[in-house]
Amino acid sequence: MAAEPADVRVDNVVKRFDELVAVDGISLEIPRGSFFAMLGPSGCGKTTTLRMIGGFEEPTSGAIYLGDRDVVGLPPYKRDVNTVFQSYALFPHMTIRDNVAFGLERRKVPKDEIKKRVEEMIELVGLAGRGNVKPRQLSGGQQQRVALARALVNRPRVLLLDEPLGALDLKLRKQMQLELKRIQHDVGITFVHVTHDQEEAMTMADQIAVMNLGRIEQLGSPTELYESPQTAFVAGFLGKSNLLEGAVVNGGVVRLANGVEVRADVTGVSGQVAIGVRPEKVQLGGAGANRLEGRVRETAYVGVATEIVVETPAGDITVFHQNAEAGGVIPAGGSQVTVSWSPEATFVVEREEEEART
Ligand code: ATP
Repeated sequence: MAAEPADVRVDNVVKRFDELVAVDGISLEIPRGSFFAMLGPSGCGKTTTLRMIGGFEEPTSGAIYLGDRDVVGLPPYKRDVNTVFQSYALFPHMTIRDNVAFGLERRKVPKDEIKKRVEEMIELVGLAGRGNVKPRQLSGGQQQRVALARALVNRPRVLLLDEPLGALDLKLRKQMQLELKRIQHDVGITFVHVTHDQEEAMTMADQIAVMNLGRIEQLGSPTELYESPQTAFVAGFLGKSNLLEGAVVNGGVVRLANGVEVRADVTGVSGQVAIGVRPEKVQLGGAGANRLEGRVRETAYVGVATEIVVETPAGDITVFHQNAEAGGVIPAGGSQVTVSWSPEATFVVEREEEEART
């Protein structure tokens, strides 16, 4: 059976702006109907990659396919994509209904069909009954829903979202994350979403490309990236990690700086490494096979958990101790404690090089 072509395929794409290499050889495939996020710090090249898929920038080299069509050189309006930006750019003098209908009217879609599709979309984004109002009568979150409806009504192959929730306050952003995921699920269109917010990407996406310095550091599901980060950058960018430097001995053993040996899956790595473990997987005391002695430096109560920083000769370890039981005892600053975690919770990454961008 011939596999269906990916909805978006980016093949070894490079983008230079004069001397600056903004995108440095990126390849990725986005399967039909998936929610894909490009995540990374400011300047990592994610927006430029999105803009190249949309046709707002052309690659310096490499190819971009939408389905099986090579789209390099095609202007945005000839690509089967729509983009939603952070600024909603709605027409202020037009009603919500007319804003949503705009693209279909320009394409001379029959009136009856426009009416039906527009009402469906307005309902889909949760604005039923508000079709006659003007954008300024809506909140920021509602205006962003209109922008979304206006893009989706065209039924593009791919919807590109460039930090679409960036202008909303935290509470609304969280609500819209879940809404966006639901809408994507309902319409089944491929969404490609750019964000620097790891929680946002984790909440919504099926697959995330974590980008740094114009390259993809790692591509995977939120669980894969969180449970098995392959680089120190990914471990640090998605959630909190404890990283301790050491050297691979062999047979699944890493010797830490203080000589203590810990067990971990070392497949594919050797020499100088860092081992990592997530703070919620470390226990005070406990029976984990990987163990370190240390001294409590500080504790901070953060509601669901207490964060405890333990100073060990191999480096600091942060522990998230769940506050599940009322009155649980938290060791005082200065106490001697043992921390432990399991080999299965331990990941191994190469040591982070001091990388200078040229
Ligand atoms: P942000 O979240 O801040 O938008 P980003 O990861 O999306 O960051 P890009 O906007 O893709 O990053 O930019 C990548 C690099 O390319 C940056 O160093 C940026 O300054 C540069 N760049 C982007 N567009 C242009 C342009 N039109 N001309 C020159 N340099 C550009």
